[in-house]
Amino acid sequence: ASTLRHGEFVGSLDCGTTSTRFMIFDRYANVIASHQIEFPQYYPQPGWHEHDAEQIMESCDACIDQACVELEKLGWTKQSVKVIGITNQRETTVAWSRKTGAPVSRAIVWDDIRVKNLVTQFENQAKTQGVQYEGKVHKGEDGLVALRKLTGLPISTYFSALKIRWMIDHWPDVKSAYDADDLLFGTVESWITYRLSGGAHGGVHVSDVTNASRTLLLNLRSLQWDPVLLEFFGLKASILPKLASSSEVYAHIAYGALKGVPIAGLAGDQQAALVGNKCLRQGEAKCTYGTGAFLLFCTGEDVVESKAGLLSTVAYQNGPNGKPVYCLEGSIGVAGSAIKWLRDSMFMVQSAADVNTLAAKVPDTGGLYFVTAFGGLFAPYWDPSATGMIIGMSSYTTPSHVARATLEANAFMTRAVAEAMKLDSGVDLPQMKVDGGMTNGDMVMQVLADLGGCEIVRPEMRESTALGSALLAGSAVRLFGWDIARPETLHEVNTAGSTSFKPTTTKEYRDKKWAGWQRAVERCRGWAAS
Ligand code: ADP
Repeated sequence: ASTLRHGEFVGSLDCGTTSTRFMIFDRYANVIASHQIEFPQYYPQPGWHEHDAEQIMESCDACIDQACVELEKLGWTKQSVKVIGITNQRETTVAWSRKTGAPVSRAIVWDDIRVKNLVTQFENQAKTQGVQYEGKVHKGEDGLVALRKLTGLPISTYFSALKIRWMIDHWPDVKSAYDADDLLFGTVESWITYRLSGGAHGGVHVSDVTNASRTLLLNLRSLQWDPVLLEFFGLKASILPKLASSSEVYAHIAYGALKGVPIAGLAGDQQAALVGNKCLRQGEAKCTYGTGAFLLFCTGEDVVESKAGLLSTVAYQNGPNGKPVYCLEGSIGVAGSAIKWLRDSMFMVQSAADVNTLAAKVPDTGGLYFVTAFGGLFAPYWDPSATGMIIGMSSYTTPSHVARATLEANAFMTRAVAEAMKLDSGVDLPQMKVDGGMTNGDMVMQVLADLGGCEIVRPEMRESTALGSALLAGSAVRLFGWDIARPETLHEVNTAGSTSFKPTTTKEYRDKKWAGWQRAVERCRGWAAS
């Protein structure tokens, strides 16, 4: 007879850009068991970045099964996992077959910039043909403004609509599936939910509004796919998933260790991290430093339209009848990936953590600036013509200066976004909650405080992305009495402490460095050959 105990836990499947992990939490947000697997990255050409959606799926299946094995080793039944949530790298675009449930092509990853020419093409289309908004066709610059009002987004290489358009136009298998009405499109949460719930055999094709708000196809206010946008990008509605809130029972797992368990939370990774940090109300903000970095500022039930290059996005929707909560987002394309580049391409460090010690060997960069615009510049600049650039080198420059300049770039990008947020919201961020793999570096944190001039608060518990998706899933079925509409029901969750990093610099120093950064950014613009 089994001696395993039966408990109550919530699972979270976190499908990141470079790895997948499945974490099992208890009611206090302690991690009981977890398993993580890295999956292959494909870079077939400069600027291109692809995933094999089948490999992502395999990593999900293996993470769930392995974490359950660990759970049993610890003496718990796997039936203790009552519900799961899924959170994911956003915008990454998966195309699969309705008939077979298998991918029809590689997935195009969010930071892939192959659609650069489509950005110009669609901007011109918005200007010349115009965009219908509030019963009127808007042309010229107003066409672009209308698109922004509809979606909360600029036209950029980042968002899914352009990636689907490119797939249909360039990959014959995608085109023929599209023409035969066999094509299903989804972002990663949609793909994983579809397959986990049975795939071609009864799988549910659904997407949550946080992910959908990153496609350029969702009407930000009605939270419906917008026919104007579909027509604008020349896409048929039949490929799109059904829309759902971020917290409700969408489907049940059809196989494996957790067969029968409801999937009840879906949210893009950054929105999940916002929820995981319990930034649920207007004025609360967090920044996550992973592959890229993402500062999200909750604006409550109002859509705040950015004038400063930020995105307006859905933060979460609590249940199908819940009012959507919105946020302003500053997305920085390159953060931890610059450190990976130092390690894997420049061989300057052996591990990502080593960058902290290397950078600490010098008191400053010796005038060096490194604009890490590997895929153009994201928020608040939105300039695909910018490239990576190191400027200010001399024979005095060492790898330590480059390492330090890499950390400084991260801080300057953050400052640029924080200043934009201040312009849009009128709120100065006196303090910022941070998480993500890169915040493990103390030097990363100190440089951030020193150049940003604000206090950086790093919670002990930094799995906020996974936790956020667990909270959304638990809340949907009222597990542990959780209800994200009533933050007081979450008071037991994650009460661990935090470390604070305070600026050690003068305002004069910070402003001088900031002026240098702005000059460097101007230099790297327009360098990419069109
Ligand atoms: P993602 O979810 O986007 O895959 P993670 O949150 O796992 O990313 O963060 C991974 C990133 O953090 C990597 O790009 C790595 O370079 C960086 N990183 C990890 N540990 C450290 C550290 N100690 N100091 C600085 N950067 C780090």
